[in-house]
Amino acid sequence: MTSRAPRIAILGAGPGGTAFALSLVSRGIDPQDLVVIDKAVFPRKKLCGGGVTFRGTELLRELVGQPRGGGETKGLEFLSSVGRFDVRERGPQWIYDRAELDAQLLEAVRTKGIEIREGEAVTALEPGHESVRVTSKRSNGARTESFSWVIGADGANGISRRASGLPGGIVGRLVEGVFESVDAKEKPDTLYFDFDPICDRIPGYAWIFPYFVGGSLVGWKLGVMDGRGVVPGETLRAWTQRYAEQRGYRLLDDKIAGFPERYWDWRSRGHRPGLVLVGEAFGIDALLGEGIAPSMYSAVYAAGRVKDALDRGTRSIRGYERGFLFTAEGKNLWFQARLADRIYGRHPERWLRVLFEMEHLKRLAGAGNDAYGRLLGHMPALVARYAGQVLLRGLPSAEPVRRLPPG
Ligand SMILES: Cc1cc2nc3c(=O)[nH]c(=O)nc-3n(C[C@H](O)[C@H](O)[C@H](O)COP(=O)(O)OP(=O)(O)OC[C@H]3O[C@@H](n4cnc5c(N)ncnc54)[C@H](O)[C@@H]3O)c2cc1C
Repeated sequence: MTSRAPRIAILGAGPGGTAFALSLVSRGIDPQDLVVIDKAVFPRKKLCGGGVTFRGTELLRELVGQPRGGGETKGLEFLSSVGRFDVRERGPQWIYDRAELDAQLLEAVRTKGIEIREGEAVTALEPGHESVRVTSKRSNGARTESFSWVIGADGANGISRRASGLPGGIVGRLVEGVFESVDAKEKPDTLYFDFDPICDRIPGYAWIFPYFVGGSLVGWKLGVMDGRGVVPGETLRAWTQRYAEQRGYRLLDDKIAGFPERYWDWRSRGHRPGLVLVGEAFGIDALLGEGIAPSMYSAVYAAGRVKDALDRGTRSIRGYERGFLFTAEGKNLWFQARLADRIYGRHPERWLRVLFEMEHLKRLAGAGNDAYGRLLGHMPALVARYAGQVLLRGLPSAEPVRRLPPG
């Protein structure tokens, strides 16, 4: 078998890049046409809660089967000083250590016969009329190559969005650490989302997730998301440390680490000739910062569009962004971004009350009929109920919420 130069470079081997590679090959593209380039050597660390909601677990199964390791949870719990409610999906969520999960996804890509270059950082990207020039660096030197297509799957901090010159959504700031329980009350079969940071002027929520490695519970991940990227990292770290202590946790990590997130927005652009952005480089859920499932779904969508462009012999995709907006995941991200604009926007306390006091919403969330983030279909009923409540009782108060002690 003779090997030839690949014509499609996938930058980044996280869930976005690997899902793209697997999906494109399943559509009949020769694995020898692809190369995956990542600056890290796998298994690599990735700061992440590792929570995969039900629709993400379904897609993972389609792509690679049930990944090894991880732990199963049976629902989400939303809490705040205004109230709490359960969110139940059609099936369980899974929690993975990202080093374990991503290494398995990459192994599945390798098994397909796709070239993988680890420890190679892309340092420049120049989109041109005929090709995209990619310069990369590894321990034994630098190289520049031309590809017909480049898939930017290099995450929130990658080079592809910057180099593409395309506008993207808001960049948030997150911090997270691994903790042990001293006398904490949380159960390892639940994912906790606490919106009280809003009361402390942090436009986001805190999470408490069980942390599984090799299928065993080894600790807890606690962190906080600033969904607008406006609060200094030091403030977020101090907040998380205090929050953890109040809830009965002790830090196991050396420090609480930070990493950005890029959120999808209807104004985000993700394509220019010969280049598409997928995964977090394109944008993820602005409300909860859920990125694993959205990254895989946008990658699968992109693989379909790139395959079609290859078949037609063109490097242009008409309506790449609009087309995504019409997928179930695109609609989901649109809905989440609208909610995030409200709850992390000008009157967060009002929207906190709307979220935690609307009985219809809580019933829907707890019914277990939908996957998380698929509530858009219920939007007309939700808006009608909200309008009815406003007519009867006026707008919910935007006054500060009285903080309850943790627990
Ligand atoms: C603190 C925190 C907690 C989170 N918790 C969750 C959660 O519980 N559930 C969830 O669904 N999402 C969570 N997310 C979001 C999730 O981690 C990301 O959205 C997801 O990893 C995006 O996948 P991706 O493949 O697009 O990018 P990534 O997973 O970031 O992968 C990008 C890859 O590109 C490589 N790369 C970057 N730049 C270059 C370069 N110049 N050259 C070569 N390679 C490069 C990187 O090494 C990396 O391997 C969290 C994020 C943070 C920060």
